[in-house]
Amino acid sequence: MRVYIETYGCAANQGDASIMQGILVEKGHQIVSDVGQADAIILNTCTVIDTTQQRMINRIKKLMREGKTLIVAGCMASSQAEIVKKIAKDAILLPPRSVVYVDDALKGKDGFSESLKAGIPRAIKIKLNIPIADGCLYNCSYCITKIARGNLTSYPADLLVADIKKAVKEGCKEIRLTAQDTASYGRDIGRSLPELINMVANIEGEFRVRVGMMHPLSAYNILDDLLDSFNNKKVYKFLHLPLQSASPKILRKMRRGYTFEHFMEIIEAFRKKFADITIATDVIVAFPGEEKEDFEHTLNALLEIEPDVINITRFSPRPGTDSWKMKRMPTQIAKERSRILSSIAQEIAYKRNRKLIGKKVNALFLEEYKNWKVGKTDSYKSVFSKNASIGDFMKVKITDASPTHLYAG
Ligand code: SF4
Repeated sequence: MRVYIETYGCAANQGDASIMQGILVEKGHQIVSDVGQADAIILNTCTVIDTTQQRMINRIKKLMREGKTLIVAGCMASSQAEIVKKIAKDAILLPPRSVVYVDDALKGKDGFSESLKAGIPRAIKIKLNIPIADGCLYNCSYCITKIARGNLTSYPADLLVADIKKAVKEGCKEIRLTAQDTASYGRDIGRSLPELINMVANIEGEFRVRVGMMHPLSAYNILDDLLDSFNNKKVYKFLHLPLQSASPKILRKMRRGYTFEHFMEIIEAFRKKFADITIATDVIVAFPGEEKEDFEHTLNALLEIEPDVINITRFSPRPGTDSWKMKRMPTQIAKERSRILSSIAQEIAYKRNRKLIGKKVNALFLEEYKNWKVGKTDSYKSVFSKNASIGDFMKVKITDASPTHLYAG
């Protein structure tokens, strides 16, 4: 069969798509990039905020009109099955934990058990997202991903390492270890994230490892080992640690389970050990009950920390979560706070990137954008160069900077 796969959302969902693609190719199917040529369609959905959900609904309606087998995978398949079936009653639902059964889904089977996502084929590319676990240990009051992905299931380290070894052998240069919370990896199977990072970093070959998003409390509980494992040259000096809010009251309402002090201790420890560490964080603005002083807590915290990357989301009530029932902030306030934080994020990013002008840094070039080669420095900063080739590790001199990337001569 000729199969068209359309994927949305986070690195974990992208990782699931490479698993589906790898399995389909191994089963003799062909992956096509044009829906018109396809015999079957897979829409790998994301529903993290309401605008994305609406976009998915529009895509389902559009793709349904192709009159072909339609498989709806991703987080909507497990957290909003009734919504999908209401729009497309013949769609086949393939939940995130069952992606290994994609070939059965193509044959029209519906209703799948869960399966390990390790020791399986994947579509190997120069960058590869590897879901190391599904689900998490927490129950944040706003999170629909918890409904979609459930409680923590870590995938066996040896099988993951074998899959990564194969990928590196086949030319992959950037391995992205991803999960809803990578730092809780292994807590259910007697393993740990630092252990897995060390095992991956010990794989022969020249490649880089990006460690995905961590829940601050999980990171806090393994901090020393985590710092040691990040010491490995193959590991990007990049820490993605969502703060969401710095207000104690709002952190409690979100049920995040950590304090701003926990968060700061992790940031300071990483900055002390790795002077060039890139810090990325996420913030939700206008969470129900966020008074002016709560917002200022977060604003001042960001001005103090100066994270390189700040992903800002306006609170989006999700069905089935406790925050769905909470009194919402006026849209005008949400817009205003998001505007303020976005301009601060831009200023900080530009200030921090400008500090690298004149410096020589290592970079791995992975893709093309217009007539630029785009790479990542050892601190996972994007760098644009005209004189690089894809797949190359190079020492480059930074000649200029923008808020989002660096330029190398
Ligand atoms: S840690 Fe919280 S926000 Fe992240 S997936 Fe789990 S419940 Fe959702």
